[in-house]
Amino acid sequence: MIPTQKTDRTILLRSSRPSIRILAAINDLHAELSGNTEGEVAAYIPELARVDPGTFAISVVTCEGEVFSVGDADTGFTLQSIANPFMYGMALDQLGRSAVERAVGVEPTGNPYHAVVLERGTNRPMNPLVNAGAIAIAGLLPGHDPTDRLNRALEAIALHIGERPAIDMGVFISESSTADRNRAIAYLMRNFGRLGGDLDETLDLYFQMCSITVNTVQLATMAATLANAGVNPRTSTRAISPVSLRDVLTVMFTCGLYEQSGRWAYRVGIPAKSGVSGGFMAVVPGRLGVAVYSPRLNTGGNSVRGIRVCEALSTQLGLHVFRNAEQRRTLE
Ligand code: GLU
Repeated sequence: MIPTQKTDRTILLRSSRPSIRILAAINDLHAELSGNTEGEVAAYIPELARVDPGTFAISVVTCEGEVFSVGDADTGFTLQSIANPFMYGMALDQLGRSAVERAVGVEPTGNPYHAVVLERGTNRPMNPLVNAGAIAIAGLLPGHDPTDRLNRALEAIALHIGERPAIDMGVFISESSTADRNRAIAYLMRNFGRLGGDLDETLDLYFQMCSITVNTVQLATMAATLANAGVNPRTSTRAISPVSLRDVLTVMFTCGLYEQSGRWAYRVGIPAKSGVSGGFMAVVPGRLGVAVYSPRLNTGGNSVRGIRVCEALSTQLGLHVFRNAEQRRTLE
């Protein structure tokens, strides 16, 4: 039963059963934040501007495979740069850490996601979660030809979801036809010998990954797979090796919210990744994955409600990685 009265929610939030507390918390937050209309939908990719700005869904998938959802959890949206940590994981698993480290750094940029900037001294992209880094990673992913590379990447994403995702062709075309800035980043990297291969094929793979469509249950399952030591809790299939997962989660913790990553780590304290579609994913290792979809973004390109939901969940359920002993008991 979905609690509707404040007293009911207060009692449920104190329930001894974690699943009841999670459900009560997300229902409460959905009701509370539905009236929040702060932020703007991303419009620089024309197709992204066509979404209903009021859409709002929250899903949680636990490491036991339980699924909790509230709101528009059936609505599909594109991953955008939420695909980046998964591409990074694929590259680590398939090529090894040294090869990936040579190509991409692990420093927060302090800049917007699409900054045309490379690391001082090395001319590498600063981290794999901003556009430059994700394009460099797309250039590394192995395959015989573009179709094979795409299929292999989709298969890897499918392991995290439990089914093969679709690509939104409208978003892909919209993005690739308005991508001068990403092309500029790619040419800059090629200028410094940081991007080999066919530049257009690499950019296409990057745009295709950004155009993968999921709903919040699927995204929360992807997050829960990262939370569950790399094993999808709903299919029991391994999607990423534990050694690569550690690097993915570390970079999500330090770089997951573009230039707002420090504030995020300080206030919420869990690995996360946002995308300009308004998708948002957070990982509580050993516990659960959270996904939010709400397309209105703050000035940093992060979902306003996505941040609010996770901030509140972190406080209510004691999720911050440096939580104190009392908070630590909240989900146990
Ligand atoms: N595909 C988007 C771009 O390249 C991704 C941006 C994002 O979600 O950070 O601009």
